[in-house]
Amino acid sequence: MNHELFKKVVDNLHDGLYFVNTDRVITYWNKGAEMISGFRAEDVVGKKCADNILNHVDENGLNLCKYLCPLAATLLDGEPREAEVFMHHKEGHRIPISIRVNPMINSSGTIVGGFELFTDLSNKRATELRIKELEKLSYLDYLTRISNRAFAEKELFARIEEFRRYGVQFGILYIDIDFFKNFNDTYGHDTGDEVLKFVAETFSSNCRPFDLYSRWGGEEFLGIIRNVDEAGITVHGEKICQLVENSFIVNKDQQKLSVTISIGGTVIRPNDDVKSVVARADKLQYISKEAGRNRFTFG
Ligand code: GH3
Ligand code: MG
Ligand code: MG
Repeated sequence: MNHELFKKVVDNLHDGLYFVNTDRVITYWNKGAEMISGFRAEDVVGKKCADNILNHVDENGLNLCKYLCPLAATLLDGEPREAEVFMHHKEGHRIPISIRVNPMINSSGTIVGGFELFTDLSNKRATELRIKELEKLSYLDYLTRISNRAFAEKELFARIEEFRRYGVQFGILYIDIDFFKNFNDTYGHDTGDEVLKFVAETFSSNCRPFDLYSRWGGEEFLGIIRNVDEAGITVHGEKICQLVENSFIVNKDQQKLSVTISIGGTVIRPNDDVKSVVARADKLQYISKEAGRNRFTFG
C-alpha cells in the first residue's frame, strides 16, 4: 500500500490511534481519537499525554499516567500491552475504553516510540436512541441530556411491578454533588452547569444500556441499576464515585475543576414502593455526607 493511502486509512479509523515519542510527547492523533476524546489533533500534538489531556484512570481511580502508564512500560520493555481504562473527555466526563499499546522499533532494534489504539466501550448508540425517545415524550432533562424525574418515577414503578411479579431485583443509587453551592459561588453558575453535564455524562457513559440515570432535581441524580444484589450495587456505586472524583474540566484560567459526589445505595425489598425505596437511599446518602462526603453507603 502506498504511503498516502495508508495515511488515509489510519486517519479515518473508527478507533482512536495516537503515536508518542520516547518522551511520551504526542506526535500523531487520528480522527477516531478526536471523535472519542473531544480533543482535536491541534489540541494535543506536541504535548505530553499526561499533561491534563488524557489522564487515564483505572476503575479504582488510580491515575495511570502518573504511576502505571501501560504506554510508558511498553516504551521501556518493548512488550505490547492491553487494558481497560477510563479516558478523560475534553468536556470532563470519563469514558470507558479498551487500549492496546505497542512499541515502534526501528531497523536497528531500538525503541523509538509507541502507539496506542483505543476503542470506545460506552454504549453511545443506546444513549443516542434513548435521548431521542425521551425528547419525544418530554422526559428529557435539557441541561444534562439524561432522563428527568418524571421518567425515573415511571421507570421505578415499572421495576417494582417486575420485582413483585417475577422477583427481578434491582438497586438504586441516590447521588448528590458535594458542596455544590460553594462551587457555583466560586466559579459561577454557568461553570456549575458544565459540571452537571459532565457528571451526568460520566454516569450514562459508564452504565449498561438497560440501567437508567436521571436528574432527580438540582444537583441530585437517581440511578436505577437492574439485576444487582448488595455486592453488585456496591461495586457500581464505588466505581462512579471514583470516576466522578477523577473527572475534571479545565476553565479559561487553565484551572482543573472537579467535584465529588455522595451516594446512598440500596436494593429493593418486598414491601417497598417508589417513595420508600427513594427515601431509604436518600437517607443513606446523608450518612455518606456526614461521614465526610465523596463516598458510597449501602443499607
Ligand atoms: P452538600 O455537600 O451538603 O450537598 O452541599 P451543597 O452545597 O451541594 O448543597 P445545597 O443543597 O446547599 O446546594 C445545592 C446547590 O446546587 C445549590 C444550587 O445553587 C446548586 N444547583 C442546583 N441546581 C443547579 C443547576 O441547574 N445549575 C447549577 N449551576 N447549580 C445548581
Ligand atoms: Mg442536594
Ligand atoms: Mg449537594
